[in-house]
Amino acid sequence: MKCPNCGGSLSENDIQCPYCDTFFDTYDDDYQLGFKIQKVNPEDDKINILILLISIITPVGLTVAVVYYLIGYVKCAKASLIAAFTPLVLAIAGALVFGIAELIKAL
Ligand SMILES: [Zn+2]
Repeated sequence: MKCPNCGGSLSENDIQCPYCDTFFDTYDDDYQLGFKIQKVNPEDDKINILILLISIITPVGLTVAVVYYLIGYVKCAKASLIAAFTPLVLAIAGALVFGIAELIKAL
């Protein structure tokens, strides 16, 4: 067994890392970005089309993604995150195309 924090080798019964003093009851694989990730039934982690459509409004989508992530619906969180960034990517792509077109006209 290895310490998830520093990678030091541990015995199976250690509750605290002898190298970096991390306690394992407060630090395990379920933690990501400092938040406890709950284990959810994968069948419950279904993408809801309605929520996905609402997520296209970027601030809403980002909020939905964070909430989904915190309650453990990782697949839904990723889908909402992608939806949230879609209009942003389209806007940048549109601006680029429009900018290049203007540039060509100016030549
Ligand atoms: Zn350690």
